[in-house]
Parts: sequence; C-alpha cells; structure tokens
Amino acid sequence: MIKSDYLIKAVDNDKQVRIILASTTGLVEEAHRRHHTSATASAALGRVLTAALMMGSDLKGEEDALTLRVNGDGPAGSIVATVDSTGKGRALISAPQADLPPQAPGKLDVGGLVGKNGYLEIITDLGLRQPFTGRVNLISGEIAEDLAQYYIQSEQIPSLVSLGVLVDRDLSIKSAGGLIIQAMPGARDDILETMENNVKNMGPISEAIHNSESLEELLDRVMNGVPYHQVEERELAFNCKCSSERLGVILSGLSDEEIADICEETGRLEVTCNFCNQAYTFSRDEIEVIKNKKPRI
Ligand SMILES: [Zn+2]
Repeated sequence: MIKSDYLIKAVDNDKQVRIILASTTGLVEEAHRRHHTSATASAALGRVLTAALMMGSDLKGEEDALTLRVNGDGPAGSIVATVDSTGKGRALISAPQADLPPQAPGKLDVGGLVGKNGYLEIITDLGLRQPFTGRVNLISGEIAEDLAQYYIQSEQIPSLVSLGVLVDRDLSIKSAGGLIIQAMPGARDDILETMENNVKNMGPISEAIHNSESLEELLDRVMNGVPYHQVEERELAFNCKCSSERLGVILSGLSDEEIADICEETGRLEVTCNFCNQAYTFSRDEIEVIKNKKPRI
C-alpha cells in the first residue's frame, strides 16, 4: 500500500518517453466523503481528479490553473476537476448518487455512468488574456481512453493513459492513481513496445498501487529494460479555494427582495460550495455588510 498522495515524473535516458505516475487514494477518499458519491461515481470522479492532477503537474506559475471537464450523456452529468500548480485539486460531479451495476465483479461501469456521447475539455489558464481550451469527443467515457484521444488530437502526442479507482465494499477508497506515458517526437518503437508490455504485465493501475509500497517501485516495473531517471516528485492533495468571502460575493448579487424571501423562514441563508460541499451560513446582517461592500451597478 502506498501511504501518501504524490506523483513522480521520469524520462528515459535517451529522451524517447516521459512518464507520470500518481497515487491519489487519500484525496479520492476525501472527494468521496465530501460529495457522498456512489461506488461508480467515486471511480468516475476519482479518475477525472487524478488525470487533472497529473496534467496540472506541468503548470509553472503560482496562479496557473487547469480544469478538466467531462460532459457525457450518462447519469453522472458533468464531472469537473480544477487543479493548481502546487498539486492541489478539487472536483465535482453533477449526480454524486448516480450508480450502475458493475459490468463484471470489481469492474465498475464508469463508461456507462459518464456516457459515450459528449466531450472532454481541458481549460488551461496561464494568466494570459484568454485561457487555452481544447476539446475532443468522448470515445468510451472511461476517461483514460478519452484523455489519450485528447493528447493525440489536440497536442499530437501519442500517449498511453491508465486511470483507476478501487472501491471497497463499504464504499471507501481502497486505492486510486494513474499513469501517463508520452512518446517524444520520433520516439523509437522498441522502447514504446517494451513499456507497453511492462504496463500490460503490471495489470490494472489501481491494483498495482494497492499492491506496491511506493510509486518508485512501480516506476521501476514500468521502465523495466529501459534506463531512466526520475525528474520530479510532488505531493498531491484535495484542496478547495472557497471561503466565506468568496461565496459571499455570490450573495451580494441578489436583490433585497430575493434575500428577504430566502431569509424569511430561518433568518439565515446557506450557500454550499459545489466543489467541496462545504456549507457557509450567512445571517441577514452579514449579507447586508457584504452587499454594502460591493459597488452597486
Ligand atoms: Zn469549496
């Protein structure tokens, strides 16, 4: 069992491929606890959040952010994860309680829950005037395959993507993580084949993470026969940027009549952050203070 959430990056010594490996069990468990997700919804949400954290590990600037949105026609609705450049991320799913019977014992039907018709979108905000948006149609709704499709279509990078979440009987997260292998331009076929075979031998990524002591140990297995060196390691965590002040801004947009209506029964107003399910309560007086701080348009 890998005890903490982190990711590592490596390249082979001939610079033919790069690899990112992430272990995210703790933070997917936190996403599950906060959103009260069903088993299949945990897997879908966990895969999207893990993928976003791996992609976000290329962000450099303090204010940079990456959003991965998966919008399929299945019962899950949309799934959105936003991550920053320090390995912190948050995620939401429209229908956290939605669930489907497993396709086979232990094989959650993420593709069915997400749906096959729809899109996967990456929004990269590097603090420029316009964030960069790339979008591809979903192939299977299983996320990993869809993300590989994104890499080839949007960035012309052949990639092998593997994402997995193992859910226990009590719905807690047993293990979660991901693997991305990307071929550099002109990468040699023999190296790609060796690694593909290594990944096949490793089996599902969630089980490999469950049965390993560290990502370094897994990296060694994936790179078996290919000399490599590790280039980076970073901690990962579930973290939401919401605060009473930020959500208060939403309230300041309501009219006096709307506030009076909402406060009529309890005298208080509750707002919940979609990303982390944290509830914030405001009294009538507090709302007035917030409203008066904002310039009226
Ligand atoms: Zn929040």
